[in-house]
Amino acid sequence: MSRQIIVGNWKMNGTTRDSKALVQAISGGVKAEGPDVVICPPFTQLSLAASQLEGTSVRLGAQDCHKAASGAYTGDISPAMLTDLGVSHVILGHSERRQGHGELDETVREKAVAAAKAGLTPVVCIGETEDQRESGDHFDVLGWQIKGSLPDDFSGILAYEPIWAIGTGRAATTEEIAETMVFLRQELVRQFAENGKKVRILYGGSVNNENAASILSIPEVAGALVGGASLKPDAFLSIIHAAS
Ligand code: 13P
Repeated sequence: MSRQIIVGNWKMNGTTRDSKALVQAISGGVKAEGPDVVICPPFTQLSLAASQLEGTSVRLGAQDCHKAASGAYTGDISPAMLTDLGVSHVILGHSERRQGHGELDETVREKAVAAAKAGLTPVVCIGETEDQRESGDHFDVLGWQIKGSLPDDFSGILAYEPIWAIGTGRAATTEEIAETMVFLRQELVRQFAENGKKVRILYGGSVNNENAASILSIPEVAGALVGGASLKPDAFLSIIHAAS
């Protein structure tokens, strides 16, 4: 079995001072035999983090990228600019970008194609709202998001992040995650055949040091996408140590 993967999404947090200390604490506490670890600081801290992580096993991710290689896109960052810094992963289609920046499935898919072409591993996020789960539409929604957001030859990582579990302290239950993982795998295989078997699936949404071990032991869960707890070195290291 391949190693699990723990991704820390710092979101819009991290001045130079905080970022420096956090990267140092995390890279210092990671053990060689553990899971793959990726931290995703804001763009402004990537360069410094890259130099701090040189020679360590911790990988660097970004939280978004543009679909174009370069050009007149004020304020945007291209996949090549990220690889140039030593970034290996990029989170795409996070619900906060879908909601706050109007990103549609199609945009996310185009970004995933561009990211992979540049040599980045896309971490594509999908997830239902609370209303969609309560009305029983969640599997339909997730199926459509997979169809719309993932390119046919997708070989990156899929992150299942129920929106109602993000930043709420209310993670999905192990039963909900287990059932959804079975659905996601079936759907990936139905839509992408052999390719769908290889996509690794992460869970995200209020993962913390207390629930990490049980979430990470659910079949099909290849790791976790961690928000708030990734800003606390002790909590993030506990999550890493709970992974295999
Ligand atoms: P929290 O872990 O803070 O709920 O955030 C999850 C998330 O959005 C990670 O991308």
